[in-house]
Amino acid sequence: LLLAYDPARRLARVQVSLERSLVNARMIYEILDLKPRQGDVADARPLDVTKGEVRFDDVRFGYNQDLPVLHGVSFVAEAGKMTAIVGASGAGKSTLTALLERFYDVEGGSILIDGQDIAKVTKRSLREQIAFVSQQPYLFEGSIGDNIRYGRESATEAEVQRAAQLAAADEFIREQPQGYDTLVGENGVTLSGGQRQRVSIARAIVRNAPILLLDEATSSLDTESEARVQDALATVMQGRTVIVIAHRLSTVVNADKIVVLENGLVVEEGTHQSLLADPHGVYARFHRVQSSKGLGLVNDIKRAADP
Ligand code: ADP
Ligand code: MG
Repeated sequence: LLLAYDPARRLARVQVSLERSLVNARMIYEILDLKPRQGDVADARPLDVTKGEVRFDDVRFGYNQDLPVLHGVSFVAEAGKMTAIVGASGAGKSTLTALLERFYDVEGGSILIDGQDIAKVTKRSLREQIAFVSQQPYLFEGSIGDNIRYGRESATEAEVQRAAQLAAADEFIREQPQGYDTLVGENGVTLSGGQRQRVSIARAIVRNAPILLLDEATSSLDTESEARVQDALATVMQGRTVIVIAHRLSTVVNADKIVVLENGLVVEEGTHQSLLADPHGVYARFHRVQSSKGLGLVNDIKRAADP
C-alpha cells in the first residue's frame, strides 16, 4: 500500500529538526542585532519604557499551526517587581520569553510594555530594554570579554570585569590562558555549561536594562556558584522588572508574584503564601512534594506528576 512508505511524513519530521536549528541560529543573530532590521511594521516606533510593566493579554501561539502551545495567556509582571513563572516541562514557559523578545509574533492577543504593543515597536528598541538569559547559554566566536560586551557594546573593560565578578565568572576567566582575551568557539577553549551560563549572566548584567528575563538561568551551576550568582542577581534585580522562569523553590518563594502555567494556560497566580492557602491547588501540590530539601522545583514538579 501507499501508506507503507510515507515520504511526506518523513519530510515533515526532517523539517521540524531543521527548523529548530534555524531557530537557534536566528536567536543568536537577533540577540546580537547582527541582522538587518526586519519584521518591523511600517510605522514602528522605539519602545519608550517609563515604568517597565509587562502585560501578556490573552496571548495565543503555536510553532506549528496544528499544534497550539499557548491558549490565551494573561498575566501582568509589575514594574520593578519579580514575577516567577513555574510549571512543568513543556508547559510553554520558554515560549513566553521567545514571544517577549519577538523571536516569534503572537497569533492572538498582545504583549504590552508600559501600554505599548510590542508588535508595533522596533525590535531593536525592544531588545535593548530587555536583558535576557536564555535556557541555553550561547557563546559566539570571539574572546570571553567580547562575549560579555555583546550585552552592551559601549561597556568599558572595568564594567565587563565588574559584571563577570557579579556573575561569579571573573575567577575562572582569569585562569584561562589569555584571561578575558581567551578565545571561545571553534578555535578556542571549551567552557563548561556552568561557565557558559555565568558568561551569559555577565552579559545580561552589563546590558543594564530595565527588564530582566531569566529562563532557568542558574540551572547548570554547581551549588556554590549558584549561591553566588543568586546573590549577584538579587542586587541586579533591584528596581527592575524581573520575569524569572524558576526551577528553584527559593527563587519562587521570594517572588512578588508567582504565575503557574499548565499546558499553555495560567492556572494559578498569587504569592507563595496565597497559593499555599489552597491545599488543592497546583502550586500547593508542587510544594507539598518538596519535602526532601535541596531539590529544585522542576524535580518537585516531576515528582508531583509521577508520585
Ligand atoms: P517549557 O519552557 O515550559 O518547558 P517550552 O515553551 O519550551 O516549554 O515548550 C512548549 C511546547 O512547545 C512544547 O511542546 C515544546 O515541544 C514546543 N516547542 C518549543 N520550542 C519549539 C520550537 N522551536 N519548535 C517547535 N516546537 C517547540
Ligand atoms: Mg523552558
